[in-house]
Amino acid sequence: LTDISKIYRIGTEKVVALENINLEIPKGEICCILGTSGSGKSTLLNLMAGLERPTKGNIKIKGKNIERMSENSLAKFRQNYVGFVFQSYNLLPALTAVENVSLPLIFRGVGKKTRNERAKKLLAQVGLEKHLKHKPNQMSGGQQQRVGIARAFVGKPEIIFADEPTGNLDSKTTIEVMKLITGIARENNQTLIIVTHDVNIAKYADRIVYILDGNIEKIEKTVSAEGEIV
Ligand code: ATP
Ligand code: MG
Repeated sequence: LTDISKIYRIGTEKVVALENINLEIPKGEICCILGTSGSGKSTLLNLMAGLERPTKGNIKIKGKNIERMSENSLAKFRQNYVGFVFQSYNLLPALTAVENVSLPLIFRGVGKKTRNERAKKLLAQVGLEKHLKHKPNQMSGGQQQRVGIARAFVGKPEIIFADEPTGNLDSKTTIEVMKLITGIARENNQTLIIVTHDVNIAKYADRIVYILDGNIEKIEKTVSAEGEIV
C-alpha cells in the first residue's frame, strides 16, 4: 500500500478512516492489524481485499494495482487468489458443512466429486470429520468458525483475510481457532492478514501493525532473529 487514504462522506461531514498508510506485506507472512474500535482496521482490510476503493493512493497485489481494476476483474481476482474468514462466520444456514465449504469451488467451476473430496479433507483438517452433514445451527460457534476456516482455505488461496475471526468465541476456543488458522497458512506458505483488537491474538502473527486513528502507529516483529517469540 502506498500513501493510502480513505475518507468517508456522510452529508457534509468528512470521516478520515485512514490517512497516508504505507505498508508492505511479503508473501507468506502472517500479519496482524491491531487497534481499538473505530481505528480503521476493517477499512484497511476491505481496501486490501478490493472490497472498497481508496480515496487516494495505490494498492499493489501480485504486481497489479487493484485500485484501478474493474469490478469484474476484482471479483475474478478474489475468486482465484483470496479467502475470507468473518467474525459472524457467514455460513449459509440451509447448507451442510460440506456444502458450505464447497461453495468457493463451485464459483471456480470445480466438479462435484472433487469439490466434495476437497471439502471433506479440509473439514477433517479442522477436526470436523464427524460433522460433515451438520447445518450451522446444529454446531457450536467454534465449530461454525472452523467450517468458515475450511471454506476460506479450500481453494488454496494465496491470501486469506480474516476480520475479527475470533470475535464471537470464548478464550479457549479463540486459541484453538488461532492455532488452526495460522497452522494451515504456515504449512502452505499462504499470506494471512488478521484484524483484531485482542493483543493475545497478535502473538500468533509474524508482525503486528498497530493502527491508531487511521494511522500506523508502529509495526512490530513478534519473532526474534533466533526464532523466539519476543
Ligand atoms: P471495529 O473494531 O469497531 O470493527 P474498525 O477499526 O474496524 O473498528 P472501521 O470500521 O475501519 O473501524 O472504521 C473506521 C472509521 O471509519 C470509523 O470512524 C467509522 O465510523 C468510519 N466508517 C467505516 N465505514 C464507514 C462507512 N461506510 N461510511 C462512513 N463511515 C464509515
Ligand atoms: Mg472492524
